[in-house]
Amino acid sequence: MRLSQLFTKTVRDAPGGEVSKNAQLLIRAGFVYKEMAGVYAYLPLGLRVIEKIKQIVREEMNPIDSQEIIMTSLQRKEIWEQTGRWSDETVDIWFKTKLKDETEVGLGWSHEEPIVEMLKQYVQSYKDLPLSVYQFQTKLRNELRAKSGIMRGREFVMKDMYSLHSSAEDLEAYYNRAIEAYRRIYARLGIGDDTYVTFASGGAFTKFSHEFQTICDAGEDVIYLHRGRNIAINEEVIDDAVAEMGINRDELEKVKTAEVGNIFNFGSQKTDDMGLRFTDANGNQASAYLGSYGIGITRVMGVVVEKLADEKGIVWPEAIAPAKVYLIRLGDNEAVMRHADELYATLTGRGIEVLYDDRDLRAGQKFADAELMGIPYRVTISDRLEADNKFELVVRQNGVQELLTQDELLAKLG
Ligand code: ATP
Ligand code: MG
Repeated sequence: MRLSQLFTKTVRDAPGGEVSKNAQLLIRAGFVYKEMAGVYAYLPLGLRVIEKIKQIVREEMNPIDSQEIIMTSLQRKEIWEQTGRWSDETVDIWFKTKLKDETEVGLGWSHEEPIVEMLKQYVQSYKDLPLSVYQFQTKLRNELRAKSGIMRGREFVMKDMYSLHSSAEDLEAYYNRAIEAYRRIYARLGIGDDTYVTFASGGAFTKFSHEFQTICDAGEDVIYLHRGRNIAINEEVIDDAVAEMGINRDELEKVKTAEVGNIFNFGSQKTDDMGLRFTDANGNQASAYLGSYGIGITRVMGVVVEKLADEKGIVWPEAIAPAKVYLIRLGDNEAVMRHADELYATLTGRGIEVLYDDRDLRAGQKFADAELMGIPYRVTISDRLEADNKFELVVRQNGVQELLTQDELLAKLG
């Protein structure tokens, strides 16, 4: 992509009132646009990051036999009444509205109940199980506080997956496969080392649910780590968990974290409440077992910004960067221009994504933008370099700089 064609521009200052680091940087770099508190639009570069995160998630969900769908944002009140979750006392973040004929409808904050309702139409016999479906969708939640930038949105993208099984054991086995798939996802997103599978409250069937918590100062959660036993526990359940697992409190380390995902074993509670049953091999009606597995796609993006950014701006891991290379052309020397155009074509031809800074701007501005946007490799062509037949390569993450011939450069960038 040529930056001269990109409609967004970087800005020196984030809008007043934006207190979170992730949103400040993403707005300044032109990745997101703030509509109002907790509500952000994703611009071309930001959308590329989201799509890459989604693709990584897809590549880990498809192999555990989950099928991608998209449910609706408008939801029926009756579906949620079956489990008592239409009430604003039970769920305090509902956005609700009415159709022209006064029928009340909800705007999807979650899809657990609507998915079960939908699956009732397709699950009749044990032969229809197990099954797993997932979606990427914008959830709408009337969150009380929205001060964490894209880490807590009133509108945000979630990946939610649901699996249905004919027995508790089968669900348990799938649940463990999902945990492993999640671990691979966070590793590929560049936050694997700091992400812990954490015991949390809210399990319906099992005593605890599991959250994926990433160490992050801007996070809103607190967990306790037992490094020796490799156990992490959310502070909400710490008394229970310590008793249950026989943990010595003195060995726990308190850390601030962001919940980047969570998984629940519902047992057969929700399916029983909603009347999703199936005919087993003996012809009897039996209960089905439900698991639910979420990942905060846009929250993860915010967490990556928070954790990896430095004083110059964002630092994207290569796997989710909007481009691999930021190509800078300096001056208006014709040979430089031609060489830059050729290198852009060569890299693009090899499937390497490039942001080509072909704008008529000062060198300092181009370098600053490359750093602010956090593109992993910066390649510069200038008069001086041209004379030596060299390109300058700078790695965003560690600032390491090299002067390379074109062949060396291509070998490096793959
Ligand atoms: P939290 O405890 O942070 O309020 P939650 O427990 O309500 O989140 P779920 O409903 O299970 O979260 O959603 C699944 C995932 O979606 C969470 O693990 C989190 O990563 C993400 N998420 C939840 N709420 C938000 C939000 N308001 N903005 C961005 N991401 C969110
Ligand atoms: Mg939570």
